[in-house]
Order: sequence, then C-alpha cells, then structure tokens
Amino acid sequence: MKNNHSIETKCVQGGYTPGNGEPRQVPIIQSTTYKYATSEDMGKLFDLEASGYFYSRLQNPTCDTVAAKICELEGGSAAMLLSSGQAASFFSVFNIASCGDHVVSSSAVYGGTYNLFAVTMKKMGIEFTFVDPDCSDEELNAAFRPNTKAVFGETIANPALTVLDIERFAKAAHAHGVPLIIDNTFATPVNCRPIEFGADIVTHSTTKYMDGHGSAVGGCIVDSGNFDWMAHKDKFPGLCTPDDSYHGITYAEKFGKEGAFIYKATAQLMRDFGCCQSPQSAYLLNLGLESLHVRMERHCLNAQKVAEFLEAHEKIAWVNYPGLKTNKYYSLTQKYMPNGTCGVVSFGVKGGRAAAEKFMKALKIAAIETHVADARSCCLHPASATHRQMNDEELLAAGVSSDLVRFSCGIENYRDLINDINQALETI
Ligand SMILES: *Cc1c(COP(=O)(O)O)cnc(C)c1O
Repeated sequence: MKNNHSIETKCVQGGYTPGNGEPRQVPIIQSTTYKYATSEDMGKLFDLEASGYFYSRLQNPTCDTVAAKICELEGGSAAMLLSSGQAASFFSVFNIASCGDHVVSSSAVYGGTYNLFAVTMKKMGIEFTFVDPDCSDEELNAAFRPNTKAVFGETIANPALTVLDIERFAKAAHAHGVPLIIDNTFATPVNCRPIEFGADIVTHSTTKYMDGHGSAVGGCIVDSGNFDWMAHKDKFPGLCTPDDSYHGITYAEKFGKEGAFIYKATAQLMRDFGCCQSPQSAYLLNLGLESLHVRMERHCLNAQKVAEFLEAHEKIAWVNYPGLKTNKYYSLTQKYMPNGTCGVVSFGVKGGRAAAEKFMKALKIAAIETHVADARSCCLHPASATHRQMNDEELLAAGVSSDLVRFSCGIENYRDLINDINQALETI
C-alpha cells in the first residue's frame, strides 16, 4: 500500500489495516495449510492464476502482513520474509545468478555473508569479486565481467562500519545492466532507504534492529520494482524466459518489474529451499517494528555519546563510528543517514587482543554475545568469533583488525553505559 505517511507512522501501522470487528493486533495464523472447496480452486493457486494461500512454506498471511510493512518502510513494490538474514542474502543473489555467473560484492560485508559468497556459493559455481567499498570508479568498473549478474553491498558494514556510497555503486551496476542489492540491516529504513538512492533490491537480517529484542531470527527481501529485467533479457533468463518447473510461467511478463523478483523467489526458491519464517516469529518481528523508530533514535544517541567518550579516553587506540565528525565516512553519513546511523561502535583497546579481552570481561552491563542491535548492550571480539574463519589478510580486507571490539549500544541510559565502560577500562 502506497501512502504518504511518515516512517514513524509506517512502523506502527504499516502493512495491516483491520476491518470492522477484526483483531487490532496482527493475528498469528498458525496453520500450515488452507482449505478449499474444489480441486479446481486449488489448481488455480498452483498455477499462480489466482492469489491465495495453500501451504505456509510458500506463503502465510501473518508473514505476508509483516513483509508488507517492511515493504512500505523501504518504499518497495513487493517483499517476502525468510527464516534468517543469511537466507535473505542467499535468495537475493541466487534468484538472479546461477552456476557460471559472477557477482561483484563489497569486501566490507558481514562475516556470514562473506562465507556464503566466497565459499558456499563458489562451490555452486557462482564467482564473486570483492571490491573495497572505497575503491575508485575505475577499479569498480574493472570488477565487472560479461557474466556479472548483480552488485552487493551493505549500507553500513557489519562490523567494519564502512558506509557505502550507494549512488555510486548503483550507477556502476546500472551501467553494466545489473541490479544493486543492498543489505540495509544496520541502518534500517528508519535511518536510510537505499531504494531512494538507486538500490534495486534491499535485504535485511530482521534478527537485528527490526526485531530488536533478541527474540526471533529472521530475514526479509524487498524489491524496489524499478529494475527492468526484460530490458536485460539475456542476462536474466530465470526471470525472462518460461520456468519449466512452474508451468512455463515467465515471471517478468506475468508479474511485471514490480512483482517478478519476489514471485520467482517465492514460487521457485522458497518452494525448493523452504527457508520460511514461522508466523510466531513474524508476529514478534512486527512487535519490534512497531517501536523501531523510537529505539533507533536511542540506539544512535547512546552510540554517539559512547563513541565521543571513547575517542577522548587515553586507553583507547582508535574509535570507529560513522556519526563522529572525525570519521572517514562522516560526509557520506550526512548524505545517506542525516538522522543517525546505528548503535554499533567499534574501537581498539591499547594493548591489543589481551587488553580487549580483559576489558570485555570486566563489563557489567554489556554482555559478550554473538549479536548486535539488541535493546540490551552487548559486545564482541570479531577476530575470535564471527570472523575467525578469516586469515589476517582477509580480516584487513573486511575492515576488521585483530584488536577490534564491536560494542552494540542498547537503549539503556548512556551515562550508565559510559560509567560501565569507564570502570572496565580501569581494570587494564
Ligand atoms: C546478522 C547479519 C546477517 C545475517 O543474518 P541472520 O539473521 O543472522 O542470518 C546478514 N547481514 C548483516 C549485516 C547482519 O548483521
């Protein structure tokens, strides 16, 4: 549903408008199947001739309602929920690239995404070229090949906190006739809407800020509806030629550029891989989304205060937060996220790995967790956790030094967070 509501109102009310006497809160449709009167009715659903539900692996009303809200938040044309952010990243690429194809990706991506691309999808015959997000236009253009099918990057990279020049990457992708896929997990649509800057597909790990309470793993893909698949027919046979596994449907013809991507990802990939989100998780996700705009403001305020405190502290070697005026990405931040970036600050403790570990152990409010973007503050040493599969060279390319502490500011009082950090720094 397109409307002129502000992002705050969309967070609270988007996706679901109950009719007279219907539940005010999004109902949890905890049903795997749906009843029909005749086989003919059901046949039409299988042929995608009629829209309706028949099996919750493909679609579920609760999940669709929540996907519709995220679609509104991002300003897209269609969206789907998935079981995790990893599933969203995988589907977003695999929906348009297959064995023998090539993808250009920013090197500053989430560790799990790097592994998915560089190891697992490589085994499937899809090759990735990783480019520095700050590379020159020449370097970026040189990464493309005739068989390139997409460009992938993160608005704010986890955990490197590099800010992607989305417009520049979109321009390069479009000049080569391929879409730009943006993982917008860290910024959330409250702080940045990549589609407004030329991104074609937006993905999320909803596990992070969108859920925001550490309660449900989930993912989402939003299509802008802007990419003209048929104009690049030869590159995207999966969308532009009949799908023999689905009664000869040509997605881009039948559903247009607004619906083709999500229809194909649902009818084909979700059918075959089954990475669906549960309606219970979608309900929890929606509760999170209702306060996303309020929480993001506090996450960003807390991170700004913590980053400024750390920057002035003698035991801190360096601080990386895109909201700091001294940050390398501050001008990109002003362009893409003028109202705030995210709640994650990374920094190095003087004394390297050992000092970082001692510091983290002494924290009382922030817990050590493989998680970010939670209402409760938490921290992690990526080199020994999420990124431990990488060697030092790969770590450097991903923007993760071995002394890096990733601190995810929750929505507690920032004075308490600073006092806690201060006392922990005194122990080293
Ligand atoms: C966590 C994360 C993912 C993976 O999401 P899961 O829900 O954990 O599968 C992908 N991208 C980014 C930026 C993330 O932070």
